[in-house]
Amino acid sequence: QASNRFNPEDLWKKDHDHFLHPYTHFDSFKEEGSLVLVEGEGCYVKDAEGRRYFDGIGGMWCVNVGYGRKEIAQVMAEQALQLCYTTTFVDVTNAPAAELAAKLASLAPKGLNHVAFATSGSCGIDTAIRLAHYYQSRRGASERKYIISRKNSYHGSTYLGMTVGLRDGDQSPHFRYVPDLVHHLSAPYPYRRPDGMSIEEFSDFLVEEFRQKIESLGAENIAAFIAEPAQASGGVTMPPPNYLPRMSKLCRDNGILFIADEVVTAFGRLGHMFASEAEFGIVPDIIVTAKGLTSGYIPLSAVLFSDKVHEVISAPDGDAWFTHGYTYSGHPIACAVGLKNIEIIEREDLLGNAARVGDYLEQRLAGLGSLPIVGDVRGRRLMMCVEYVADQKTKAKLPDEVNISKRISNECEAHGLFVRPIGHLDVLSPPLIMTKQEVDFVADTLGAAIRKVT
Ligand code: PLP
Repeated sequence: QASNRFNPEDLWKKDHDHFLHPYTHFDSFKEEGSLVLVEGEGCYVKDAEGRRYFDGIGGMWCVNVGYGRKEIAQVMAEQALQLCYTTTFVDVTNAPAAELAAKLASLAPKGLNHVAFATSGSCGIDTAIRLAHYYQSRRGASERKYIISRKNSYHGSTYLGMTVGLRDGDQSPHFRYVPDLVHHLSAPYPYRRPDGMSIEEFSDFLVEEFRQKIESLGAENIAAFIAEPAQASGGVTMPPPNYLPRMSKLCRDNGILFIADEVVTAFGRLGHMFASEAEFGIVPDIIVTAKGLTSGYIPLSAVLFSDKVHEVISAPDGDAWFTHGYTYSGHPIACAVGLKNIEIIEREDLLGNAARVGDYLEQRLAGLGSLPIVGDVRGRRLMMCVEYVADQKTKAKLPDEVNISKRISNECEAHGLFVRPIGHLDVLSPPLIMTKQEVDFVADTLGAAIRKVT
């Protein structure tokens, strides 16, 4: 029994004294220690005391095929025994990396036939931005260095990722992010659009803002526009209809690359392998993926890019090197897991399940909208959230000290459900294998928690 392998008291102390967790707020670090998870099966995880939870967060938007997949464990073990590692620098490769690159090219929107591997979403974003700069320079536009991003975006936790993203609280005076690189536009956040603006007018406003930004900076100075097609941890916002195609057209007309950060949306969360084209009608120049690529079984990210970009960067030039890549780019075990994970998504029609069950989740959660504290229920399919407010009419936020999303998520946890509190939201991103009965459990438990806390 995995849960008996260690003493929780002892583990909490080791964790508290030695492990600096991501996004630790030192004031709120729990006295009693972190929740120790020890097992996972399907959509469920168990803690060290044997309590079972439905993982409505899917790990961290990532455990798409669910926990405890023996065939993934097997492929990892087989690949580790056969060949645990090769470099892929320059002209060495390994079979899983080449196979996975070809598989991704076959699934991607048309023309995105090239893949660079990295180890995380953040590193993938670094790769994409370096690729954009390199492409622009190789095509003779070396002044094109600015990156255009949006407020409320999250693109990772490296220096470059944090520079490009801009969620509330992520930028702080303790760091000095890369100066003079990024310009941020307004967030496509329909619920909090300016008063009196229709959705269509809001879309016009956002597109016009981008047009003016291009004009003021000069297209000849802009390398790329980067966007999560649906902003994830910055608010689980679905953009206004037609906004992304119009932004994409502005990019195309002005020689600006469109980088889609699909770290969350690729591999099924919205019912598609890639959301850019299938859900939002755009074909980006570069797509960054991670998370669902291996369903969290092992770290891996993949940056897909177009023939257009490849043609430029691969044109003969004796002096030109794309001096980029990681020791673990195309790691054979990670790539073997990626292949098996995609095989499972296809074999079990998990895209179809995500679409069916996700539509039902949308429908069931919509029912929470009548609770007085719920300002908005939004998202798409298996990427959803509830936003809490003090007043539904004015959309005024509750004071931060009320800590509403955390109190509600604690109440859910006490009843066997994980939801993720982010700011004034509770977020859901469950595994794609979720059933309709589990949707009922999630909606009922979250609803009861909201009623109890308020
Ligand atoms: N981009 C998006 C949209 C994300 O949500 C995340 C992480 O949550 C990242 C990038 C960074 O990925 P990672 O944490 O694997 O570095």
